[in-house]
This record gives sequence, C-alpha cells and structure tokens, in this order.
Amino acid sequence: MSFEKLDAHVHGLPRAQIGFYPTPFHKLENLSRDSGVNIFMKREDMAGPGTISGSKLRLAEFIIGQALSDGVTHVLTQGAYLTNSGMQFAMAAVAAGLKPILFLQDESHRGPQPEYRGNLLLNQIMGVEVHLIPAAKGEHWDTPSARKKLADSIEAKYAALVREGHRPMIVPGGGAHPTGLIAHALTFKEMTEQSNAQGVMLDYIYHTAGTGTALPGLIAAKLLSGSKTKIRSITINHYAPGNWINSDIIINRAKGLLGQLGIEDISEAQIESEIDLDQRFIGEDYAMPSPESVEATRELARRDAVFVGPVYTAKGFAGLLDHIRSGRVPAGSNVAFLHTGDTGNLFEIPSVVGDVTADPH
Ligand SMILES: *Cc1c(COP(=O)(O)O)cnc(C)c1O
Repeated sequence: MSFEKLDAHVHGLPRAQIGFYPTPFHKLENLSRDSGVNIFMKREDMAGPGTISGSKLRLAEFIIGQALSDGVTHVLTQGAYLTNSGMQFAMAAVAAGLKPILFLQDESHRGPQPEYRGNLLLNQIMGVEVHLIPAAKGEHWDTPSARKKLADSIEAKYAALVREGHRPMIVPGGGAHPTGLIAHALTFKEMTEQSNAQGVMLDYIYHTAGTGTALPGLIAAKLLSGSKTKIRSITINHYAPGNWINSDIIINRAKGLLGQLGIEDISEAQIESEIDLDQRFIGEDYAMPSPESVEATRELARRDAVFVGPVYTAKGFAGLLDHIRSGRVPAGSNVAFLHTGDTGNLFEIPSVVGDVTADPH
C-alpha cells in the first residue's frame, strides 16, 4: 500500500500552513468496551488554529495557499448562518492575513437573534464582515431562489471589490473549490498511517457527509493505495439525482483527483462501488436535532468526554452507533470516526442542539 503519488503531487502544491497536522487519532476506550467494537476517532475538530475547528481547514490550506500565490486580498464565501465552513475559512483567511467576508442565510424564522451564538459568535469575535441574507417568508434554505439570492449578493460584492482595485476570490459553500479537494486524501493517508502505527488495520471509516468535499478525497486515496478499509458516509442532507449534491458529483470529483495524480485506469464504476451512503439520520431537516443525534452527543460525552456538534457530527456518530448495534459493523471490527467538527454549534439554541443536557435515565 503506497501513497507515493499523493505525496509527490501534494509536495508541489501551494499550501498555507495554518492548521496543526497531523490531527490526533485515538481510541474511544469506554465506548469500545461497551460495544465490543474498537472505535477510534480522527480529530479534524482539533485542526486549529482556533480551539474550535473542523474538516474545512484542510481544504482552506490549499485554497488559501493558491490564493496567496495569486495575490488575492479578500476571501468571499457563503453558508447557513451557523456555517462551519464559513467560520473555518474566516479563521484561515485571518491567519493568512487576508480579509474574509461571509454571506450567510438569515435564519430568523427560528426566532429573533438578539445575540451572537455558536459559530456566528466566533466570526463576530474575529471581527469578520458578515452579511446575513434574509430568505423570503416561508422560503426553505435549500430552495433555488434562496440560493440565488446569496449568489447574487456575493457577485455584487465581488464586482464592487474589483472596481475598487482589490483581488477577491469566491469559495463555494462548504469549501467545494477544486483546489482544496485533494485535502482529504491526506486525511485518509494520516488515518491509515496512525492506525498502522498502533498495530490496527481499519475495517471501516465513518464520516458525516454534506457538501461532498471529504468523500472524493477519501475514496481517491483508498483506491490509489489499494487499502481494504471501507468508507461509510452518514449524510446530513439528501443525496439524490438532481439534488444539490449527489453520487455523480462525488464520482466526478474523485475521478478528477485520481486524474491529477496521474491515475487513469480506475473506472467510474469502481469509484461508485466505494460510495456507501446512509441517509436515514438526517432527521427532520438540516440544522435540526433528532432524538438520535441528541442521544449520540450525550453518550459520547458521558462515556469518553468527546464533544460532537449538533448539525453534523452528532448525526454521523448516531449513524455509527446504530450500525454497531444493528451488526452492520460486526463485533471486533476496527472502526474510525472522522470527527469533522461543528462543536462551536453546541453553544446554540435548543432548536439547533436539542435537549442535550437532559438526564436520560
Ligand atoms: C462540512 C461538514 C461536513 C460535511 O463534509 P463534506 O466533506 O463537505 O461532505 C461534515 N461535518 C462537519 C462538521 C462539517 O462542517
């Protein structure tokens, strides 16, 4: 098993060193004992530079690295008001001396927002310029019209900055900029090397999938290295043909990455056979807690003192616990959960976090 081609390719790429890599990899001793499965965790939530971080920072190192070599001055990006990606790109831009500007969907339908909470609070402390774009009454965050309003606002700001002589760049929601997609091939490599160093062969990697930035990199690294580890994704939004994100997008991105690495003999069917999505843990909607996500948050914190975040990782971890209990992860397996972050949003209102403080028994 070799990652040589990946190493050689990444070595030649511009990259801003902002985070703390490799991120930690450790066993959850108590949940492992409880469940009869060896559960490990890869801590992208600890990627830095702030104490609250996540999986987007790895993308940002490459995207900002390229931006610096292109003379970029402003980084414009978008997301939900509690966006992890936006907060991490803001951290990365600030750390690199660039100016971040965020365009976020106003979620005032959840009730008035008199104070800063969650990631919005962190953006405010960093002094980030944030534009909250209100949706029309009754409009869902994922409708094309809501998406268009955000896109139009960004375009207008971009044009204004250019007129003023600046050099802005736009990073798509979730950090899905082609320059960054190689990043999570490195996550796969790190996890493989860290588990091997502990004498462990990983049977499964579980992660929470959303905007499809980690999965193509994980799959590309797996295929290029010939690893036997299976990748399983718990989604927090619906992947379906015609949807915002779907399997075709993952396949195209993985194929593009393999192409960059000079690997042309892996078919789309081979890539597709590596995609294993479980869509049963979305709950009512994106950014809404589910009974399973609330229970998973509490269980992990009470057994192993690790915090997941309500909108993403709690749902992913709930999926993993379900798969362990139902036998989809057989007893004695070695499984690693990729902790992609979202812990900033634990400091949110109950309609986002759920009743995580309740005594379950
Ligand atoms: C963005 C994000 C995800 C989804 O990751 P993708 O790689 O974009 O699919 C999962 N968890 C957290 C915490 C995130 O911020």
